[in-house]
Amino acid sequence: GYRSRAAYKLLEIDKRDHLLRPGMTVVDLGAAPGSWCQVAVEKMKRQGRVLAIDLLPMALIAGVDSLEGDFTEPAALAWLEEKLQNGRVDLVLSDMAPNISGVMLSDQARQYELCELALEFSVNWLKPDGAFLVKVFQGVGFEDFRAQMRQAFEQVQIRKPDASRDRSAEVYLLGRHPVATKAAAEE
Ligand code: SAM
Repeated sequence: GYRSRAAYKLLEIDKRDHLLRPGMTVVDLGAAPGSWCQVAVEKMKRQGRVLAIDLLPMALIAGVDSLEGDFTEPAALAWLEEKLQNGRVDLVLSDMAPNISGVMLSDQARQYELCELALEFSVNWLKPDGAFLVKVFQGVGFEDFRAQMRQAFEQVQIRKPDASRDRSAEVYLLGRHPVATKAAAEE
């Protein structure tokens, strides 16, 4: 079984967009309790690697390397860089969501800080044919962030899986074909 119903969101998106294939390197941001990792490992037929980060501890999953840490801290990026060496990433997943303080504007602002950091990581580390799937909340900041996504990717789509229909403001943005990755600049 899956550790969280969040699994069904990724399964639904993957069914349509075919994001996960054997042999990939996947980075999963905000990974706990680990159901997206489970889906990734399964869809990659256990060939490939998943690097997962969360503030919370996560029980081990074969094929997943995980860090208990804060993605906004330099140590998290250092860990990813060390794991990746000079290898590039096929797919960045971010299901990160900050703990809700109840103050809507600051919750939204914190959400978009996480999204922007994940976008920056994606631009720096994705392969030229890589993809980035990120959870966002419609509301203040959404159009701004979508515009940033459109600058970074040739194709940006909105995905609203049935599995998140009860979470009204939640949607996913899928960016494909990064416009200018560092990997491409180095070639
Ligand atoms: N995709 C996961 C799954 O399928 O099991 C569920 C992710 S849950 C909706 C969001 C996660 O984001 C939480 O576990 C939370 O701890 C994590 N998170 C929030 N802010 C974070 C940060 N700054 N760094 C790392 N993880 C963070």
